[in-house]
Amino acid sequence: MKPTILAVEDETALISLLRYNLEHEGFNVLSALDGKECLLALTKHQINLILLDWMLPDISGIEICRKIRRHSAKKDIPIIMLTARSEEADKVHGLNSGADDYLSKPFSYSELVARINALLRRVQTISMDKLLSFQDVEMDITTHKVVRNSVQLKLGPIEFNLLKHFMENPGRVYSRQQLIDFVWGQDIYIDERTIDVHIRRLRKGMNFDGQQNNLIRTVRSVGYSLDLAEG
Ligand code: CA
Repeated sequence: MKPTILAVEDETALISLLRYNLEHEGFNVLSALDGKECLLALTKHQINLILLDWMLPDISGIEICRKIRRHSAKKDIPIIMLTARSEEADKVHGLNSGADDYLSKPFSYSELVARINALLRRVQTISMDKLLSFQDVEMDITTHKVVRNSVQLKLGPIEFNLLKHFMENPGRVYSRQQLIDFVWGQDIYIDERTIDVHIRRLRKGMNFDGQQNNLIRTVRSVGYSLDLAEG
């Protein structure tokens, strides 16, 4: 499976170069031109690493970095800051805000690729044997595979993140707002009914043949939990 890199950069010429060079190295490349697009892309796709420009038109790279690190579903995604600034103080600032690595423009693509591979290896080692299970459902966090009764489930990224959150804390009841904060982060306004739509999709995805027990319990006037009993 190709790792997916999200390149956040407002210079379209640099985006094209990054895309060309990184795709050539076997990565999947998605791009975002500003902070808003970046945060949106994070909720829509499974991203393995972020290349983050320091100077963006709306939210600064530093601020995005902080937002991502506060966002429980996304906080472990490795981030490499890209910047034209080269002062040591800025580097420290960047790393303090939660970036894993830092590269000053102009940089060589061989160095960028080496740093990307180093970070991806580190994450892979940390997340090895990250298997979650509940009843007949097994989730492999590293490969993003969910299997139920030997059948691989087809779940979208939001449904995957919801299920992951439930499987990390089975039996615990979450309010819709808590689930929104987990999946989208606290900085975006999402209507609570949106969660109901994704819970419906998740239930449908988990019930691959129409014969499976519903494991996502509705707790009336509270929210949802991963549980055997239907409610
Ligand atoms: Ca820029």
